Amino acid sequence: MRRFDGDTLVIASHNPGKLREIRALLEPFGVSVMSAGDFKLAEPEETEDTFAGNARIKAHYTAEHSGHPALSDDSGIMVDALDGAPGVHTADWAESANGRDFELAMTKVWTLLEERNTPIPRTARFCCTLCLAWPDGHDEVFEGRVEGQVVWPMRGDRGFGFDPVFLPDGETETFGEMEPAKKHGMSHRAHAFGKLVKACFA
Ligand code: IMP
Repeated sequence: MRRFDGDTLVIASHNPGKLREIRALLEPFGVSVMSAGDFKLAEPEETEDTFAGNARIKAHYTAEHSGHPALSDDSGIMVDALDGAPGVHTADWAESANGRDFELAMTKVWTLLEERNTPIPRTARFCCTLCLAWPDGHDEVFEGRVEGQVVWPMRGDRGFGFDPVFLPDGETETFGEMEPAKKHGMSHRAHAFGKLVKACFA
C-alpha cells in the first residue's frame, strides 16, 4: 500500500457536490487540494461497467495530465427492485436536453418502482469507489456503501444528486435534509474515505 506524502492532491471531478464533500473530508490532512477544473482538464469518457473501472479512468487521466497524485470518486445509487440500476449509470439517467436534471432522474426511478408495484421499503444503497492514482501509474482503490431505501416525495435541498430520495437505514431524515456534517460521517463516500485515510494518510 503506497502512502500519500506529497503536498498537492488533485480531485479528479467536475461535480460541485462531490468536490464540496471531498474537500470537507480532506480538510483535516493539511494537503493543498486542487480540482481537475483548476488544470482545465477535460472529463475522460467513463467506458467501464464498474465503479472501480471508471474511478481508475478518472484518477489516472487526472494524475497523468496534472503531474500530481489525483483522487477520483465514482459513485451511484443501486436500487434492488431495478436490478441494481441506475448504478454506474446514475449520472446518465439525469441527462436531458438542458443538461443534467436530477429531479428528472429521481422521477424516472420512482415511476419505474410504481409501475412494478414494488413493495415498500424500496431498498437501495449508495456506492462509492475512490481511486488515488499517481503520475507513475500506481493506484490504490477503496470502496464504501450505505444501505437505505428510496422514498417519495423528494425531501430536502442540502445535498446533491439523489440525496432528496435516499433515506439511510435507521434515520428519519433523507440525505437531502440531513446536516452535511452528519452525512459526511455516515455516507458511502465517508466509508470509502475512512479506508483511504487509514491506508494512505494516517
Ligand atoms: P459519477 O460518479 O460522476 O458517474 O456520478 C455519480 C452520480 O451518482 C452523481 O452524479 C449523483 O447523482 C449520484 N451520487 C453519487 N454520490 C451521491 C451522493 O452522495 N448523494 C447523491 N447522489 C450521489
